[in-house]
Amino acid sequence: MFSGSSAHTNGYSSHGRRRPRQRSRMARDYNGGGDGSFRVCSYPAASNSSTTATVSYTQQSDGDRVAASHRGEYDRVYFQSYSHIAIHEEMIKDHVRTDTYRAAIMRHQNFIAGKVVMDVGCGTGILAIFCAQAGARRVYAIEASDIAIQANEIVKENDLSDRVIVFHGRVEDVEIDEKVDVIISEWMGYMLLYESMLASVIFARDKWLKHGGLILPSHATLYMAPITNSERYQESIDFWRDVYGIDMSAMLPLAKQSAFEDPVTETISGENVLTWPHVVKYVDCYTVMAQELESITTKYKLASMMRAPLHGFAFWFDVEFDGPAVLPPKNHLLFPPGNSSSDLYSHGGSIQRKRRCRADETVILSTAPEDAPTHWQQTIVYFYDPIEVNQDQVIEGSVTLSQSMENPRFLNIHLEYSSGGRSFIKESVLR
Ligand code: SAH
Repeated sequence: MFSGSSAHTNGYSSHGRRRPRQRSRMARDYNGGGDGSFRVCSYPAASNSSTTATVSYTQQSDGDRVAASHRGEYDRVYFQSYSHIAIHEEMIKDHVRTDTYRAAIMRHQNFIAGKVVMDVGCGTGILAIFCAQAGARRVYAIEASDIAIQANEIVKENDLSDRVIVFHGRVEDVEIDEKVDVIISEWMGYMLLYESMLASVIFARDKWLKHGGLILPSHATLYMAPITNSERYQESIDFWRDVYGIDMSAMLPLAKQSAFEDPVTETISGENVLTWPHVVKYVDCYTVMAQELESITTKYKLASMMRAPLHGFAFWFDVEFDGPAVLPPKNHLLFPPGNSSSDLYSHGGSIQRKRRCRADETVILSTAPEDAPTHWQQTIVYFYDPIEVNQDQVIEGSVTLSQSMENPRFLNIHLEYSSGGRSFIKESVLR
């Protein structure tokens, strides 16, 4: 995986990130190859052999069973990747992520205290334990991967077994005998939607959340923006033009394919971003339906803020931790960023959600290029060749994100872009 841009001053190296997407990663997993998938997994499979807590499964019909067999195999690989310690270490050491979750729990402490919580995908149990520390009466900590075994031990060693109950199984299969007041989950994948874990949170919401209950995070927004990144292009592509004085331009087609065929996960800075961001998808976790996430199409029209080579598009997201039905809808009035009197801003006639808010308002976890880096970094779709754009030049087109037929946890990206009278299409897969 390439990641050598000088903008990578974030502490998240290309070798230690949570959800690396490298080609054939899944295939290697199937073959027992073991550098994992989805979140960091460059470690051999853990040998978690002891058994954990209670789980009871719902009945499946024969038809469901056949239809689920492929999904079951994808899930096996997916959950295996979460049985490794490295992936959890990476997530927990991402202080932006973990501290923001803890701050959000404490912000809602009044609601959580004395209540029943479900942690969908508890991993090591860290968020479930934060909720117990915030005074939750009971926390159902659900984890399908074998890391549930350690989560259970951690709960015991911290004397929380009376309040935190670890279930080793999929949230879709678990049975408990009460509804819950709060659902918490850290479900966000690269580009927000990679991994498709939000569908499991929606399932849990519809089955287990009481009316008027709290979902953390409550809202999520996926953004995109055109970027310039000459250094990245130079180091991967232009490098071949003069190698120890030898013209190796014959390598260029291979270099472009190798570097830019697939989306890459790397950190850029706000300076790489050429326009205001465009909102690809706004998700209200209280109301979103799983079908809405299967395919998302949006059109954009953006004006470059400077003259620069356009190298591709970056995608990033933020999530908010709000109570139910508190935020106004997204179609709202418009102030530029920096104007704290609005949640939203506008440019070129399109309405955008603002990505920050005052410290005393909603807690927000942002993975934007101008904010503190996280292990999610940004997801970049590079073009094979840059396009020169002038200041104020319009860049427009559309993007469709859809679950891959190859594996519903992968993301197909169909990107159409035009500028200066030329139009292009780039198809890629985040796998
Ligand atoms: N909550 C932990 C781990 C977050 S990573 C933390 O914040 O550190 C997401 C976790 O959800 C992974 O451990 C994954 O195995 C688990 N997971 C994903 N889908 C799930 C499902 N349908 N049922 C149960 N666990 C799931």
